[in-house]
Amino acid sequence: MIDLHCHSTVSDGKLPPAEVVRLAKSNGCTLLSLTDHDHTGGLAEARAEAERLGLAFVNGVEVSVTWRGRTVHIVGLDFDEHNESLQNLLVRVRQGRLQRLENIATKLAKKGINGAYEGALALAANLEMASRTHIAEFLIQEGHVRNKQQAFTKYLGDGKSCSVKHEWADLAECVAAITAAGGIAVIAHPMRYDLSATAKRNLFEEFKAAGGAAIEVHSGNCSKNDRLNYALLAERYGLLASAGSDFHRPNDFSGGVLGACPELPESCRPVWQMFQQAKC
Ligand code: AMP
Ligand code: MN
Ligand code: MN
Ligand code: MN
Repeated sequence: MIDLHCHSTVSDGKLPPAEVVRLAKSNGCTLLSLTDHDHTGGLAEARAEAERLGLAFVNGVEVSVTWRGRTVHIVGLDFDEHNESLQNLLVRVRQGRLQRLENIATKLAKKGINGAYEGALALAANLEMASRTHIAEFLIQEGHVRNKQQAFTKYLGDGKSCSVKHEWADLAECVAAITAAGGIAVIAHPMRYDLSATAKRNLFEEFKAAGGAAIEVHSGNCSKNDRLNYALLAERYGLLASAGSDFHRPNDFSGGVLGACPELPESCRPVWQMFQQAKC
């Protein structure tokens, strides 16, 4: 079983990289990629643990991109993590996070919620990776919301009361950096962006023109219908298909089961057939 999208404490996940790998293995995984947001710092630990357990592993990362004013996530797979231009891009994307956290904290303070900056930083294992997930955790911890979903619908979600505009990487630049590092660029969870058919066509065509190769046909706990729809779109736009749980923590039912994505629809051309790092 395959999982090409999950997170560790290097970004906004709850388990350290080696534990993510162990849990994936115990769930029956046979091919895994760790795809922390904007950071490759967990790959060496994850790869070493995967090797120890005899689990096929490829490098991964989930890059934050701004496309036409929206945030879109691009997963890079099977690249050289030491590639300088890719690392430079990731450093640049990460640098914006502290300022953004401060901007969100200022908005929360105007609503009478103080201490979000320090609170979120205290929860992030990696300071430059402070994310909205950590702010949500802080809001839960302080009793301002009941759960993560409420933190996003009330305060943190795009367009909600304490959201801020942020410029992440450029789409074409991100795809080019992943490709130049020998990797494969994948549009993460396309079913989550709420795009019109026209916007989807624009995104997929621009992505493909930039050298993008695949979309996630399965993500998290998406429906079978989503898989069928995105399998058709992958076919229409000549894109390969990927699958990932987007796992962040155990017992989070908004994500999929770590390491055990359902099979892709038959029409799909799986992205893993292209992998160099793990033959499968
Ligand atoms: P950031 O990269 O700081 O903008 O944080 C984005 C992360 O927040 C995503 O990777 C998810 O883990 C989480 N997230 C975003 N939107 C939601 C949502 N509506 N509900 C729950 N978690 C979300
Ligand atoms: Mn996340
Ligand atoms: Mn994402
Ligand atoms: Mn993710």
